[in-house]
Amino acid sequence: MTTPWSYPDFDAHEALHFVTDAKSGLRAIIALHSTHLGPSAGGTRMWHYVDDAEALTDALRLSRGMSYKNAMAGLPLGGGKAVILADADRTKTPDMIAAFGRAIDRLGGNYVTAEDVGMSVADMIAVCKQTRFVAGLPVAGGEVGGDPGPHTSLGVFLGIKAAVRRALGKDSLAGLHIALQGAGSVAGGVARLAAAEGARLSIADVDAARANKLAAETNGAVVSTDALLALECDIVSPCALGAVLTEATIAALNAPIVAGGANNQLATPQDGERIAARGILYAPDYVINAGGIINVSTEYLDDGDASLVRQRIDAIPDRLEQIWAEAAASGSNPAAVADAMAQKLIGRG
Ligand code: NAD
Repeated sequence: MTTPWSYPDFDAHEALHFVTDAKSGLRAIIALHSTHLGPSAGGTRMWHYVDDAEALTDALRLSRGMSYKNAMAGLPLGGGKAVILADADRTKTPDMIAAFGRAIDRLGGNYVTAEDVGMSVADMIAVCKQTRFVAGLPVAGGEVGGDPGPHTSLGVFLGIKAAVRRALGKDSLAGLHIALQGAGSVAGGVARLAAAEGARLSIADVDAARANKLAAETNGAVVSTDALLALECDIVSPCALGAVLTEATIAALNAPIVAGGANNQLATPQDGERIAARGILYAPDYVINAGGIINVSTEYLDDGDASLVRQRIDAIPDRLEQIWAEAAASGSNPAAVADAMAQKLIGRG
């Protein structure tokens, strides 16, 4: 019998909750990886998975990633994540989101949610009617809250600039070519900031209309999703879904830098070593993409204002630099160095 404990990505999760609500059709997994540093926090993803095993693996990997992300961002939060299983007959309904909110509430604050792929600010407003353990809610002008996407984009943009400084010795993205995978919330923000600094963009999204719209807005070019990762360019920026950096795609990379906002970009831990062995500088995903959770954390814990959020996001490049320096000094690769740092912070080193 295969149980969650035997999953390769189980990694000593503190708790896994399988949620079923027959009336609304809700099926969800809420994974709590660690509460060592505080309540486990991480967004909710709604996705059409091939099967339940794929959904569980996604929840486990994303949840562990949140433990590492929150720890490396210096936040007093543990790591968790929820996935809602969608399919052709199970699309999002108000009843389903309400049932999901009640399920979060039953966890009594051990898990705090916000939006991720497939969920919106409007969904968080609906969740908030059932539980107070939610962030990413709209706020009045100047207050901290709302869509975490733009904050994630800012951190990724600053992280790309740090990588460019380290690998190419340049202080600006002007004239550099970025291959951007995805044209959604995070990718859109990165594209706009990079284009404003004079970067040239090649953009791919499975949703062609989204790619076209973003390319038109940023004077970029649309390329096919198959070609994107192998483009000859200065920076490959994965900002769509995870596990895109595999043995095959890494062998085909044609850029000195990989730095993007998607969670769980490496298909396996060995892929961190494969990128380093090719002399390519990699920005560990959960470090560079922490801007959104920094904003969510500040909103939820009510421990700072917008300028403090900005200060916390501004620390992302320093953290990356620390990881790259340690990797260079130790001969290890940046992904492994970041994992070791994060594990120590959550008491598992
Ligand atoms: P989004 O849903 O707004 O955008 C994702 C985009 O990726 C969509 O346009 C989708 O069509 C596209 N896509 C899916 N598969 C693709 C493929 N194979 N090739 C090209 N495009 C593809 O989601 P988002 O909020 O922008 O999140 C993007 C990534 O960043 C996710 O991995 C998410 O977990 C991660 N992330 C998001 C945040 C945040 O604040 N939103 C924070 C941290 C990490």
